[in-house]
Amino acid sequence: MSNALGFEIVAEVKRLLLILIILGLVTPAVFRGSHTMAEAVTQPRAGLQADENDPNVSLLNAVWDRLVAVAAPSAPLAWPPELHLLTDAEMTMAKMVPKDPNAFATLYKGNPLVCVNRALLNSIVEGNASRLAFILGHELSHVTLGHIQHAPSGGTLLLMTVFTREKEIAADRNGIKLALAAGYDFREAMVGPKRFIELGLDQPPLWPATHPSWTQRLALLEKNRASLWNSMGAFSNGVLFLTVEQYASAERCFASVVKAFPDCYEAHANLGYARLMEYCDLLRPEDIAEFAIGHIMIGGFYRRPDSLIEKGRGINAELWKQATSALEEALRLRPDLTLAKATLGIAYLVRPEGKDVQRASRYLEEAATAAMKDNSLGTISRAGVLVNLSVAELAAGKAELSDRHLGQANRLAGNVAVIRAAILYNYAQELLQSDKGNQRRDASDALYKYLKIGSPASIWWKLGLDSYSKLCSEPGMNCETEQQIRAGATQEFRPFPPVEVRQGVQVQLGDSIEEVQKRLGPAVTIPIARDAKLNRYRYLKLGIDVIGTDQVMAISLNSRLAPALKLQAEGSGGQTRILKTGMTEMQVTQVLGPTSFAATVFNAATPYRFYPQVGIAARFVQGRVAEWLVVILPRREG
Ligand SMILES: [Zn+2]
Repeated sequence: MSNALGFEIVAEVKRLLLILIILGLVTPAVFRGSHTMAEAVTQPRAGLQADENDPNVSLLNAVWDRLVAVAAPSAPLAWPPELHLLTDAEMTMAKMVPKDPNAFATLYKGNPLVCVNRALLNSIVEGNASRLAFILGHELSHVTLGHIQHAPSGGTLLLMTVFTREKEIAADRNGIKLALAAGYDFREAMVGPKRFIELGLDQPPLWPATHPSWTQRLALLEKNRASLWNSMGAFSNGVLFLTVEQYASAERCFASVVKAFPDCYEAHANLGYARLMEYCDLLRPEDIAEFAIGHIMIGGFYRRPDSLIEKGRGINAELWKQATSALEEALRLRPDLTLAKATLGIAYLVRPEGKDVQRASRYLEEAATAAMKDNSLGTISRAGVLVNLSVAELAAGKAELSDRHLGQANRLAGNVAVIRAAILYNYAQELLQSDKGNQRRDASDALYKYLKIGSPASIWWKLGLDSYSKLCSEPGMNCETEQQIRAGATQEFRPFPPVEVRQGVQVQLGDSIEEVQKRLGPAVTIPIARDAKLNRYRYLKLGIDVIGTDQVMAISLNSRLAPALKLQAEGSGGQTRILKTGMTEMQVTQVLGPTSFAATVFNAATPYRFYPQVGIAARFVQGRVAEWLVVILPRREG
């Protein structure tokens, strides 16, 4: 069994263990198979014997549900474990002192069981959910890390040495990760261990080899803190929102990460990126024409969300300033951060007072040099940085350099349409800028190819069309009309398919969260950003998560239990195709085609593959889809 909190002295552990064995609460290896004792005890369950209105009980249940929802079940054991609030009577019966704070994980009748007592809730937790989350996370980790089921058999005394120092530390480390993933606060959680020390409950160094003291454990947790930020649910959710181009939501997530972890340069960089993308989303084609720059290669810049209209289109200088200050903070913390430099380079191309090509070129040159050496960046990211460098150089009048970098980008771009489109657009600009008469036909050809593969939703598409039409009006040029260009586009699926959870029960983007809860029943709620109303509602048994504020913004299908996604082809009589988790890459390509958008432009660690035309993203693990995401995307223009 686990002396989870590690403060009891050995004699107490021994006594507790023996008493619990007698009571049948614990089934140690030596007694397995003998149910005589165990049956004498009532089935433990959180809150069953306690008053439902007791704030301690509701806190226990709420925190427990959120932790269980983010913990990985351990295969050979019943899941989730039982949670039991020890009564004073039970404690006294077990010859434990009820006023001593206590918590532990163990096997009960072969099933995992986590116990806590009231003294722990009253003197250590004191109503704080984050403190409790760390403590329960620690106990849950003993279960998921296989500590309780791998107890050595052969004698009760041996059981006491099960939870070695390494296991305690591993449970601490995993426990805080679970707490962060479930949306709890690191600083608040660490007050728990501090309370033990304050109350003089730190463990005497009786068994220093097996039980680290609270002082030691706290020091270790603080030391590892720097690497914990990526356990925060808000960070991974922020990356998700960046991937699916929900920049305002991403901004809220990263803002909450930098608040908790001010040293986390990745979060500063992503925060700056999210803000710059919001700024760019507000720009109008005439703003881009005013900047007199080529086609920049970034995230969803080519998409123009209608939802932003109410914020007022145009240049938002304050947003730009906030974006660059977050990016500068990231670079202050980590001066060699390639993607922060690349983003700052873009920022100076679209600076509110007008582009600053010198600064833009300097940042982009540094980013390009670093990107070429950085193997963690995909070729698409590298191509993107080179395209942007070439845009800055052309704007600075350095045509030769610009041409060379565009050529380099072209060799890396492969068949990825969004990059190829930007390259064609910029190539045409280069030709037009050279102002040689014989190159105007080549420019027109490049623009035609651009208009064919580029997205009409792009802010540059309209500029490209204008430019193309102007060329076409010149004598001797023979061009297609806009209608002809738009015709013959490949058939697409209707975007944002509803998710049919079971026969006749659907969840759709834009549904009210309240309605969804009525339809699907209660969910485990995991806040994504503490300050925002943004939550992840986890339906474990359905295999889906619903993400949103008051409306559904994304639906995640993330386990074998998840229903299939039905895609309906556009147009009447269109085919239906099925998407499931577990599909291979080849099966996915057969349905959605090869034009997928690998969203690794800013975060190489995120393996989502994005299909903007259907509003679906896929996360592959070992060549198979581990998760499908349906997400709200701006409607296409035109
Ligand atoms: Zn422990």
